[in-house]
Amino acid sequence: MLVLVVNCGSSSIKYQVREVEPADGEPQAYTSSMPAIDENVPLATATAGVTGGEVIAKGLIENIGTSEITDHTQALEILARRLDEELGGRTIDAAGHRVVHGGERFSAPVLVNNEIIRAIERLAPLAPLHNPAHALGLRAIQKTWPHMPQVCVFDTAFHRTMPEKAWRYAIPEEMYVMNGMRRYGFHGTSHDYVTGKAAEFLGIPREQFDAVVAHLGNGASVTAIRHGESFDTSMGYTPLAGLVMGTRCGDLDPSVVTAMLERNPEMTARELDRILNKESGLQGICGDSDMRAVQQRADSGDEKAQLALEMTAYRLAKYIGGYHVAVGGAQALIFTAGIGENSSEFREQVCNELGALGITLDPGANASPEGDVARISTPDSAIEVLVVATDEERAIAEATASLVRERVKG
Ligand code: AMP
Repeated sequence: MLVLVVNCGSSSIKYQVREVEPADGEPQAYTSSMPAIDENVPLATATAGVTGGEVIAKGLIENIGTSEITDHTQALEILARRLDEELGGRTIDAAGHRVVHGGERFSAPVLVNNEIIRAIERLAPLAPLHNPAHALGLRAIQKTWPHMPQVCVFDTAFHRTMPEKAWRYAIPEEMYVMNGMRRYGFHGTSHDYVTGKAAEFLGIPREQFDAVVAHLGNGASVTAIRHGESFDTSMGYTPLAGLVMGTRCGDLDPSVVTAMLERNPEMTARELDRILNKESGLQGICGDSDMRAVQQRADSGDEKAQLALEMTAYRLAKYIGGYHVAVGGAQALIFTAGIGENSSEFREQVCNELGALGITLDPGANASPEGDVARISTPDSAIEVLVVATDEERAIAEATASLVRERVKG
């Protein structure tokens, strides 16, 4: 089955076409004769029975909303023509969307119908930059491929298993009830995917697997995994909370926000939000947001870059220690995403802070982890340390194919 995986932003669409196979070798289901939107089909939430995810095509369509490409429908028409050429006559069977915010409603991938699109739009106050663009993409695909089933996979869904003590903020209850102000958590597709890979690698049944997952990219979050599910996570109401990131500040005393606004009457909330999201983190501390650049400067003696790295590693280590306690003793610490997978230096810096947990790295294995899942701790380390390659597009393609197959089976 060919699955088009899309990440629809307001001015760009990132896409991949993935080939997904049924795990049991059953013949592939062809879905193109079905109506794309069938309000009567119950919303299945299965995510099994398919494997794989070879990349057949990938690319980016930019400049949506300009005179070049006026809207998402036009962008999808361009994409359809491009794929016609690239796929040599093969047709796409389904589309899987990465959706940033599923609010309190969505705890698993869902097949799309019109009501689901409206629900994603209604969640716009929680993700004003993303959810409206996702809805535009969903509708544009409906227009371009009227028979193509679509699935949404939510960044927040994996964290719906968190207990209330982890997701509530200690603010007046009305602020939660009236405005939805609570911890949602993000990067869920990645945390879920690498948790499954790590449990499989260690031979531990997922429902017995306790771990801490550090997804460290430009955006970064750490999740406490208890019995294979999300128990707590560092991102919160928005992806601004938690770790020190490329350009985001992570955790702050909330008074910093109110005091900044009070002391600078000309500063708007939107401007401060931009500073905390785009000019803080590594960028704010040392003037560079890219980890490789920061490490190069630190290696050549730049003190601001060194401080940026120390703060980032220290903040992460505090979370790992806390989450180790939260899950009742983690069996594994998992590093993933751009920094987590590629920076042996940063992994070492973090693990150096974790001696109290009895973690010891194998320097050779840490310097060159091999394969999609690699152990980088010594045999006597109290907690296994793994590097796992994340693949959110593959996870989305598999969830999409699985749901579509369930629907075809009826
Ligand atoms: P992501 O958002 O997952 O693509 O991760 C991007 C981050 O990974 C950037 O800060 C990059 O500098 C960082 N990164 C990628 N490769 C390396 C590397 N070899 N060493 C250090 N950081 C890296």
